[in-house]
Amino acid sequence: MQRILNHSLIHNKLSRWYEQNHRVLPWRETQDPYLIWVSEVILQQTRVNQGLDYYLRFIGRFPDIYTLAAASEDEVLRYWQGLGYYSRARNMHRAAQQAVAQGAEVFCHSEQLTPEAIFQQLLSLPGVGEYTAGAIASFAFNLPYPALDGNVYRVLARLYDCEIAFDTTLGKKHFRQLAWQLLDQDHPRLFNSAIMEFGALHCTPTSPDCTSCPIQSCCMAYAHHTVELLPVRKPRTALRERYLNYTIYCTPDMRTLLHQRTGKDIWQHLYEFPLEESDQLLPTEAHLPSIDLTHILSHQRIHARFHIKKVSELPQIPDTIAIAFSSIDDYALSRLTLRALDSFGNLL
Ligand code: SF4
Repeated sequence: MQRILNHSLIHNKLSRWYEQNHRVLPWRETQDPYLIWVSEVILQQTRVNQGLDYYLRFIGRFPDIYTLAAASEDEVLRYWQGLGYYSRARNMHRAAQQAVAQGAEVFCHSEQLTPEAIFQQLLSLPGVGEYTAGAIASFAFNLPYPALDGNVYRVLARLYDCEIAFDTTLGKKHFRQLAWQLLDQDHPRLFNSAIMEFGALHCTPTSPDCTSCPIQSCCMAYAHHTVELLPVRKPRTALRERYLNYTIYCTPDMRTLLHQRTGKDIWQHLYEFPLEESDQLLPTEAHLPSIDLTHILSHQRIHARFHIKKVSELPQIPDTIAIAFSSIDDYALSRLTLRALDSFGNLL
């Protein structure tokens, strides 16, 4: 079935479509591997509109790999605050330090490296998988490596009418083979940009514009009326339910307590209010205000209650620090804590 796809026709049509339709974005205007890497990490699980502001702020403060490597983790997390998936920022920071310790060849002296060495050096960095390595290799160096993000999986699944779940081990292997087959070896930068943007804007999850699709004649799912059924994912596992009870202490001169998370759990190293985790939300004390929030993470549903306690003096609680509310922006906070602070401001 795959052999009947006309690859060069798809290359030509997608490139032309891209030239006429793509969004102008700063990371598309550069071939600097560091800037491309930052954009790719930010855009994982983040929409372009939201990611753009973060990207500009991040590269404003950390314009090159040396600045990022030299920064403290706390500061890097502050620039990531609100984006979620903080392990991405921590990994990027560690990767920058590793790359600099090893001479930063791939970022600064790539002319001395073979294509395979560039790809392998990228892949050896913490948090850089085949997708990110392929994206940097093709966008920065125009090297023929595929870059499979969610948009590309969807376009491939439909073009090849492939009903293997793309997020399984077997599926990843199979789709990688399809991506290698379809890759335009002569113009990998343009091809990868085009297929990703085509998936993001045209062959969308719920309303692909098949009627005016430039590659409709090559699309097996269109021919077989299976477009809406694709791509296939493995069944989702149930979310873990967690109940987090926070206390927001508040003195008359607007001071409070924060605690830094440790251990291998969500929001590692971020700051939050003192916490008691239990198997259900704890009742609110009479006449005391509280804020209830539900927060969904990839594998967990967080039920959070923030108990607001006005106190004349802050209590002594181990592993907490006393701060003024006015300096809370100096601490990297979880998105849940930021949401609670928004509501807290309205309650005052
Ligand atoms: S015909 Fe529809 S499903 Fe197929 S590639 Fe085009 S937009 Fe996507």
